[in-house]
Amino acid sequence: MRPSIRSASLLIADAWTAAEDGREREIVNPFDASPLATVAEASARDADRAVRAARAAFDEGSWARAPATRRAAVLTAVADALQEQRDELARLESLDTGKTLAESRFDVDDSTAVLRYYAALVTTDAGRTVDTGRSDAVSRVVHEPVGVCALITPWNYPLLQITWKLAPALAAGNTVVAKPSEITPLTTIRLFEILRERLAEAGAPGGTANLVLGAGPVGAALAEHPGVDLVSFTGGLATGQSVMRAAAATVKKVALELGGKNPNIVFADADLEAAVDFALTAAFLHSGQVCSAGSRLILHRSLHREFTAELARRADRIRLGDGLAEGTETGPLVSAEHREKVERHIAGAIAEGAALRAGGARPTEPGLQAGYFLRPTVLDGCHAGMAVVREEVFGPVLTVETFDHEDEALVLANDTPYGLAGAVWTRDPGRGERLAARLRLGTVWINDYHPYVPQAEWGGFKQSGTGRELGPSGLREYQETKHIWRTVNPAPQHWFSG
Ligand code: NAD
Repeated sequence: MRPSIRSASLLIADAWTAAEDGREREIVNPFDASPLATVAEASARDADRAVRAARAAFDEGSWARAPATRRAAVLTAVADALQEQRDELARLESLDTGKTLAESRFDVDDSTAVLRYYAALVTTDAGRTVDTGRSDAVSRVVHEPVGVCALITPWNYPLLQITWKLAPALAAGNTVVAKPSEITPLTTIRLFEILRERLAEAGAPGGTANLVLGAGPVGAALAEHPGVDLVSFTGGLATGQSVMRAAAATVKKVALELGGKNPNIVFADADLEAAVDFALTAAFLHSGQVCSAGSRLILHRSLHREFTAELARRADRIRLGDGLAEGTETGPLVSAEHREKVERHIAGAIAEGAALRAGGARPTEPGLQAGYFLRPTVLDGCHAGMAVVREEVFGPVLTVETFDHEDEALVLANDTPYGLAGAVWTRDPGRGERLAARLRLGTVWINDYHPYVPQAEWGGFKQSGTGRELGPSGLREYQETKHIWRTVNPAPQHWFSG
């Protein structure tokens, strides 16, 4: 059944509205290309209206200066609503992205936890006093909202990614303009319906949270708008670079969560049954459309034959299907264009000498022909010179490289412009810690893959981004730091004698 989504789906200055020029976009289900909803397609003029609304709401001051407990109460109320609507939101996310219901429920729960985490954190975020060495002077450091924040998100984790930005931005007292991916905007629209109500109940000014929908030009209009103080962007490397360039004109603060080419290193002393199992999850969860996907398997040579054989056997058995259907293990890619891009990567790798061990083709089942499916693919015999090892594929494609010595594994793992996440599998705790200390990655898992919690920072070294989401740093991203010095009884200093 087609979900009910409002077509006047821009939220500007507290009113749901259509695009000024009336343009719309059809949103489709990647499982079978069927239409799901028609939403507004904003233009740069709509983005401008939204920024002006956010600016007016920020400058009015009552949200920025509201007691932290009041802002926290709004986040908590939104978290409660997400849990009340958990099943419906999860279903909508699966329809829009193709991911399984289990994954979508996880995303709703994670979003809930992040809202609750920042609600708690902001109420204890009191700044600090500084020792001046003088009894007649008081010095303190406080944190204030940055102002108007543009929040731009990708298509793979729509609800989760916007919540990772919204929760700390609003907790800190900013006003926002959000722009989700044009491919998967549906749960963000729902989230803003919930948010609008809760903000109104709390007496926040009308333009505190605004939503515009549309493709790259709308994001670009936000990134360059002089009324925006901060751009928080999650997406691809090239887009992130263009956001950073656009933001430079008015020296906006920029937070970037970009791509990854994440190593998963397995030593000979690892628990091999667990390592194979997690290698599959690392690479093929959400059909590999995960920024932290473990897309580069780096195997000790002694295990190579047995490990890849088991991996390929299990990859061939992964059940593709409708994200909403019981028994589906992973869904389709998000669009026809994206699948073609991934297929070009596979063909290029084979032309460069990679050996295909699993997948590499579209499924043959009649029920999967209308959607954008691709079989989980294992490419063996890969090396750092190949494009498929260097570039983010963002699909169900796992490359296998081999090493003989620990230092060699480290060099292979770090030999990439990206630095988002990765894992080490070993029973030797010393080796695990040695590698963790030397891997140039924002997240390192030892004997695990993929877990994250709201309390721990998430983000990238090198070209995987700048800044951090989650944890205390995630709140600081949305705050200015101010030093206030007060001299209690000022007296002339007579620095100058005249
Ligand atoms: P994308 O870069 O194509 O788009 C991301 C967002 O930017 C979308 O909303 C898009 O409309 C917008 N956009 C496009 N052009 C723009 C421009 N010139 N200026 C401003 N905004 C613009 O990325 P995608 O294909 O939606 O998502 C996949 C990418 O996201 C992958 O590279 C993935 O690694 C990355 N990602 C990173 C993380 C992380 O935490 N580091 C998380 C999820 C996804």
